[in-house]
Amino acid sequence: MSSIPDTPTLTLLTPVEDLPGAGPRAARGLRRLGIRCLADLVLHLPSRYERELAEATIAELSDQLGPEHGNTVNLAVRGEIATVQSRRGRTSRVEITLEDGTGTVRIIWFNMAWMARKIHPGMRIRAWGKGKRNGDVLELANPRWTPLDEQDDAGTSADERLVPIYSANDEITSATIEAIVGRVLDAALALLDDHLVDDYRASKEMPTLSDAYRLLHRPTSDGDIAEGRRRLAFDELLFLQLAVMMKRHHRRTACIAPELEFSDAIDEHIRARLPFTLTSYQDQVSRDIAHDLQRSVPMNRLLQGDVGAGKTAIALYAMLMAVASGHQAALMAPTELLAEQHEVSLRSMLDGGRVQIDLITGSLAPAVRRERLERIAAGDTDLIIGTHALLTESVEFNSLAAVVIDEQHRFGVHQRATLRSKANDEHSAPHVLVMTATPIPRTLSLTLFGDLDCSVIHGRPPGRQPITTTHVPLGAREQAYATVRAHLERGEQAYIVVPVIEKTDSALRDVATHLDWLRQGPLAGFNLEAMHGRLDRETRDDIMRRFRAGDVQALVATTVIEVGVDVPNATIIAIEHAERFGLAQLHQMRGRVGRGTQPSACILIGDPTTDDGIARVDALVETDDGFRIAEKDLEIRGPGELFGARQSGLPPFRVADIMRDLELLQMARRDATEWIQRSPRLDEPQDRLLRRRLLKAYGEALGLGDVA
Ligand code: ADP
Ligand code: MG
Repeated sequence: MSSIPDTPTLTLLTPVEDLPGAGPRAARGLRRLGIRCLADLVLHLPSRYERELAEATIAELSDQLGPEHGNTVNLAVRGEIATVQSRRGRTSRVEITLEDGTGTVRIIWFNMAWMARKIHPGMRIRAWGKGKRNGDVLELANPRWTPLDEQDDAGTSADERLVPIYSANDEITSATIEAIVGRVLDAALALLDDHLVDDYRASKEMPTLSDAYRLLHRPTSDGDIAEGRRRLAFDELLFLQLAVMMKRHHRRTACIAPELEFSDAIDEHIRARLPFTLTSYQDQVSRDIAHDLQRSVPMNRLLQGDVGAGKTAIALYAMLMAVASGHQAALMAPTELLAEQHEVSLRSMLDGGRVQIDLITGSLAPAVRRERLERIAAGDTDLIIGTHALLTESVEFNSLAAVVIDEQHRFGVHQRATLRSKANDEHSAPHVLVMTATPIPRTLSLTLFGDLDCSVIHGRPPGRQPITTTHVPLGAREQAYATVRAHLERGEQAYIVVPVIEKTDSALRDVATHLDWLRQGPLAGFNLEAMHGRLDRETRDDIMRRFRAGDVQALVATTVIEVGVDVPNATIIAIEHAERFGLAQLHQMRGRVGRGTQPSACILIGDPTTDDGIARVDALVETDDGFRIAEKDLEIRGPGELFGARQSGLPPFRVADIMRDLELLQMARRDATEWIQRSPRLDEPQDRLLRRRLLKAYGEALGLGDVA
């Protein structure tokens, strides 16, 4: 047998420099795309496909076009460049003639002077685009084209062809990637083992892994692409579901949470602390939670409830159950302002009792912080309220039994895991309740939050008035503030939101300027204050206290008031440059009003110019149902951004699209659930490869290290 010295035996780890067809420049280009070895190249899927037209000879095309001037047709031709002329000027023009032995076509590129450097007489190319008859000649204007090397030129493509388009760069073109893939794909795929066993795969009517990659790199039809994608999308969804289920199983079996005491007396005691009677939905959720907390399986529950639905009372309920059993509970909020607000309201509800509360945020003076940390570690503090600062290592709890994470949409999987790990030892875990006002569409709750049990508080507490939302263009701003003024004159209060704290070059309103303008103009005579993240804690506290007491009538604020602030007498919110905020954020801000018994209003001030901006403002005016808003948001922004991969800490999907692939997602979820029940650690011999790939993909993000 003769050996070919310059074609090394390929393995999936063969570096790109050693791949046949990849010169140094191409290899550099590949590396810049993150492709280091053969396996990476196989994983580099086309980002889209172009339909390449069937080719015909120039004579055939001429017949097709007929004798009439001006007929146009989509066509593709190949041939040799006979002449090149270029003319510069206001509209530059590069003109060539292309011959294929049966006739001549004239090709013209307008305003692409650089084309003259890329082509030369004698070169063979393939060109495609819209052709037409111009007098006697066949003419092709601004066609797309590729040079043909000997290999490409082997035969004409008589059939339509789907051309894979790969993301590329200035050192390697999509066509070169296609050519390299063409030479190595079969060898690579022969080395690729499938992690799904044949029977299972066949029962899903899925192609093998190798076939799926082949279908996507070299499709012959749209059906091929769909089939290849279906398999790879399913794999991604299945992996995530398996990982999430594995984690959940591990947590439920390997970790023990404190079994909290519960009795009618405890229940009554807790309810007596609340200044209102729970609604039936709150009641149901509190019972679900009481049930969970009595068990040694750590609770992992998601509480969804629209802005103003009354989630804080539920948080308190869970936390007081921990305290009643002699343990500690923590409440984590996404902003300092919200943490402070929680502290204030919990203190007032628990006033006169024995429950000790401490606040931990990033801006505490070191001495104060140290003192509080000592109290917490000694178990002298019962309820700990804080921001991200709770996650730092120096925070040690004495006996943490329950953790509540407020406004989960601001946190990721990582943070949940960190707080959970604050239990006393590796085999114990606190009960966790995460709360969000951003309703999570079903598709997402199946993926990112797939390991959580869900509870929902529908509706709002009784006696609430609806919020009327209107859009006011910039030109009618004065009118908007006349409405605000009317509310203030009735003894009600207002929020006015602006996008920036300090003056910028743009025409955006900033806190200080806007405050001055309002004080001297439309809201003269009322007591207005600024509220933003750069104020120190004391100033912030003082202003919030006076606002709550009604001494300050309006806050001119940044989005710091977005979450959690709860002043029922505030009945109107005006949002400047509303189009600049996200939909969920606008909905949250609007939720600051409508908390009392007076009718409330939300005024969106701005001139949206983009489609998205207009859609957001319209959506808000149209509905104040948080679930509808979340769905709209998903439509406008797509799922990727909503609970961004960045935030979630999970690797993004390459192929799957949870909106489009809902059916696959449900199938993956069903199968993963069964699978993990049958084999919680995936340690059956036939699952070995699956398990290895799974841990590689999700082990770190989901902290599966301890499982494996
Ligand atoms: P969110 O779900 O947005 O966190 P909050 O817990 O801040 O909502 O509650 C919103 C407002 O509704 C608060 O003023 C709270 O005191 C009030 N509230 C909550 N539950 C009830 C209830 N069952 N009856 C009356 N008022 C309630
Ligand atoms: Mg809240």
